[in-house]
Amino acid sequence: MGRSSKDKRDIYYRLAKEEGWRARSAFKLLQLDHEFNLFTGVHRAVDLCAAPGSWSQVLSRKLRGKEEQQEVKIVAVDLQAMAPLPGVTQIQGDITKVSTAQEIIRHFEGHPADLVVCDGAPDVTGLHDVDEYIQAQLLLAALNITTHVLKPEGTFVAKIFRGKDVTLLYSQLKIFFSSVTCSKPRSSRNSSIEAFVVCQNYSPPAGYVPNMSNPLLDHSYDVDFNQLEGPNRVIVPFLACGDLSAFDADRTYPLQLAEGKEYQYTPPTQPPIHPPYQQACQLRRDNQLSKEEAPSVCPSQDQDQDQT
Ligand code: SAM
Repeated sequence: MGRSSKDKRDIYYRLAKEEGWRARSAFKLLQLDHEFNLFTGVHRAVDLCAAPGSWSQVLSRKLRGKEEQQEVKIVAVDLQAMAPLPGVTQIQGDITKVSTAQEIIRHFEGHPADLVVCDGAPDVTGLHDVDEYIQAQLLLAALNITTHVLKPEGTFVAKIFRGKDVTLLYSQLKIFFSSVTCSKPRSSRNSSIEAFVVCQNYSPPAGYVPNMSNPLLDHSYDVDFNQLEGPNRVIVPFLACGDLSAFDADRTYPLQLAEGKEYQYTPPTQPPIHPPYQQACQLRRDNQLSKEEAPSVCPSQDQDQDQT
């Protein structure tokens, strides 16, 4: 695929670069805000799984406004390093670790956050059940860390895959938030099972002590939440969001070129700083990435064992 073909096919990818966003996902948070008014009264916000940083950019632009508001604090967490952003403190860390929660609280000088957002996604394997399971784990890790840092009545927004265990996830979220809505922004492709839970009014059960336990990992949990019936089954509202006149992420729009103008490629706003493919690219440039030739005879059993 040529470097310009994605520009031509994906309107949000193209717009993101034109408007200076690091990733097209910026539009998802903007459209969620349009529907849920997420940023009103927010002074402390946490962006979990933030790299390369387009959601942090949205938080920075929306919360800090034109004049740099000193009282606004934004913390961004990711396993990967991220290029700096104005008014955003970065933590390179793992959201499944309690030490990350403690570090966030230190940045807020002991004050809780008003808003936690999480666009976390594991590396997709292509095996749908595995991808859904890992995504669910990440969402619960985000929920756990949120219970350490969010203020009562605060808001939590997270990416969710609407797969097999989604009812279990809704049930978990409803324990902590009085309002849970599943929302699909226009900029999220219909062909993707991705959606976002918008959880409002954080109100944990009385006496709840934040911890990092995870019921999906607890195999003594043998209830099939999708089989629950009547009042035991939690069904949350589903809402498409983003102005209906906004671009449809599944369509291809023609380039709008002025008469006689040629198409100009726009480079990414922020190229990745340590991409995992960097070493492979260098090896290929140095011609060191050639595949080993397959052995003409099968390796002996001992060799097989050595390789595992
Ligand atoms: N919201 C980001 C933006 O707008 O630029 C995009 C986030 S990207 C889809 C998902 C991110 O989740 C990756 O950068 C990945 O490193 C991060 N991630 C996955 N597992 C994580 C974990 N356990 N702790 C912290 N970050 C994690």
